[in-house]
Amino acid sequence: MEGSRQRLALVTGSSRGIGRAIALKLAAMGHRVVINYVTREDAANDVVKAIADRGGKALAVRADITKVDQVEAMFQRALELGESVEILVNNAGIIKDSLLMRMTDETWDNVLDLNLRGAFLCTRTALRGMVRGRWGRVVNIGSVVGMLGNPGQANYAASKAGMIGFTQSVAKEVASRNVTVNYVAPGYITTDIVEGLPQPIKDRIMARIPLQRFGKPEEIAGMVGYLVGDEADYVTGQVFAVDGGISIG
Ligand code: NDP
Repeated sequence: MEGSRQRLALVTGSSRGIGRAIALKLAAMGHRVVINYVTREDAANDVVKAIADRGGKALAVRADITKVDQVEAMFQRALELGESVEILVNNAGIIKDSLLMRMTDETWDNVLDLNLRGAFLCTRTALRGMVRGRWGRVVNIGSVVGMLGNPGQANYAASKAGMIGFTQSVAKEVASRNVTVNYVAPGYITTDIVEGLPQPIKDRIMARIPLQRFGKPEEIAGMVGYLVGDEADYVTGQVFAVDGGISIG
């Protein structure tokens, strides 16, 4: 690993999709990684095995990150891999789409609870060790929908837009402690969510993407790898779209 230190990283929702790719990337950079999941234990164990097979260290930890006690317990378990979590990637997220006039309280609350409150709980817990250690990296996985809006996704867009203000505010709070906080906004990435869309919808989306293809989870992981590495020491409070150009409009 090119001179940078090996750290302890925690990636929420890293049993699948983008989180999995981020966990594999961080492990390839030499970091030890906590693989958080909520239901799919087998998938989380697969990620741990993939990392171990390549000579890395990882630990799967089940925690519903909307629950404060489970978040605290997860950060305690993380100590099996190192002294304190130095890299946090707030990746876990869900969509529950509905036009606003038909949106139930529950649909609104579920999405805000995981995408925004979950990131708040994990960041608050992680910052204690980061501030004490005078080094930390927080990367929030948002969405271009948080910058552009999308019909049927008012709850999701609100959660992801909220995460931008969260990123900027926390970045200002902890910059003097050498902790950076940044936001990565994926466009349409080939994970379970996008692959499950009906073909006509996929075609409509594709027509709006200047680079004319969906992104790969590894392309989001590459940006996260940059942000947690030494080359990004002077970067904080920023939003990075990795979206094939869709946010250019
Ligand atoms: P997936 O649906 O593939 O994976 C979701 C992950 O979140 C899983 O690991 C899941 O765990 C975990 N998770 C779900 N609920 C909880 C919970 N309560 N506590 C802890 N973990 C939980 O997601 P994607 O990879 O598609 O998305 C990852 C992030 O990227 C999200 O924040 C999403 O909003 C964002 N994004 C994705 C885009 C895309 O095109 N895919 C586009 C823009 C943004 P388990 O496996 O156990 O269920």
